[in-house]
Amino acid sequence: MFDAMIVTKDDEGNTSAAITQISEDQLPAGEVLVAVEYTTVNYKDGLCMSPGGGGLVRNYPHVPGIDFAGRVEDSSDPRYKAGDRVVLTGWRVGEAHWGGYAQKARVKADWLVPLPEGLDTRQAMAVGTAGFTSMLSVMALEDHGIKSGPVLVTGAAGGVGSVAVAILAALGHEVAGVTGRPETADYLKSLGATQIVAREEINETVKRPLEGETWGGCIDAVGGAMLARVLGQMLYGASVAAVGLAGCAGLPATVIPFLLRGVNLLGIDSVMQPYDNRLRAWERIGKDLPMEKLEAMVVPAKMSDLPQLTADILKGQVQGRVVVDVNA
Ligand code: NDP
Repeated sequence: MFDAMIVTKDDEGNTSAAITQISEDQLPAGEVLVAVEYTTVNYKDGLCMSPGGGGLVRNYPHVPGIDFAGRVEDSSDPRYKAGDRVVLTGWRVGEAHWGGYAQKARVKADWLVPLPEGLDTRQAMAVGTAGFTSMLSVMALEDHGIKSGPVLVTGAAGGVGSVAVAILAALGHEVAGVTGRPETADYLKSLGATQIVAREEINETVKRPLEGETWGGCIDAVGGAMLARVLGQMLYGASVAAVGLAGCAGLPATVIPFLLRGVNLLGIDSVMQPYDNRLRAWERIGKDLPMEKLEAMVVPAKMSDLPQLTADILKGQVQGRVVVDVNA
């Protein structure tokens, strides 16, 4: 028997979560049984743990947790053997398939990635889906060419934003972080941001479709008015990696930045990334993300903290990356 955060739904549709003892034969089918060591709290976990599952949870009872890292306990797939360290992000785990908010998980071998050189399971979850997505965003910007100007990161003090700031700075880019929390300025500077932009300076309705050419690239975790405004501030031919909608899912923009400035809007999806891309991104994380900066982002937690922390992240109140030791 082992601990799992089980979310149940009653006849009125109300959901509630509790740490419960379950057995391995209750886990869903899959080729690999993993002894989970660490999981984390991403924005999507906040939605999955919220009343009604944020429209994402496909089955109840459910174990949320969209990512985890741990040790293979048993595998019927030749690619993995007992003792291998693995990491999982995406594939609707924690939404349609039971996820990482448990001491064990059973998943398809195709969804896993072997832990890359230079990362342990705790560090892998300090990165987690948010940080993995930041690296995918950096790679997408690189593929389209980062222009010589500061790179803007919105939602900078959050999970995606913090890792994006650290990676971009480590790669030698000048980084500007947009935050609605001025008290995070020192934290963002410690990660490598050279410029802090107040959220209200940029998070307002587009007045002119084009403004001064300012940013050589952008990783946007916020969407809505923020993204629309940033599009008109990009350098000619620069790219914006659109990652999230922490502010708004709408986009009150015009087509002018695309037509007159050749701006590229790149959609980033971490969920369905093919194996080779996932491996490449995790290897780059092991190589390009300074571990001391990653450590500065970590908020340590245990499984009983999850209800509070998943509620906090939906209010934009989590700084950096929550790392949950499921055995604590
Ligand atoms: P966090 O909550 O950790 O960070 C989001 C940040 O956005 C907050 O910390 C805050 O930063 C800012 N923010 C929140 N609300 C608002 C608002 N109303 N207006 C402006 N800024 C706001 O979440 P994550 O970093 O984990 O995720 C960010 C987004 O990226 C989410 O929408 C998530 O679903 C998405 N995502 C997408 C993925 C993909 O595959 N495309 C994968 C992972 C995440 P500050 O306080 O600094 O202003």
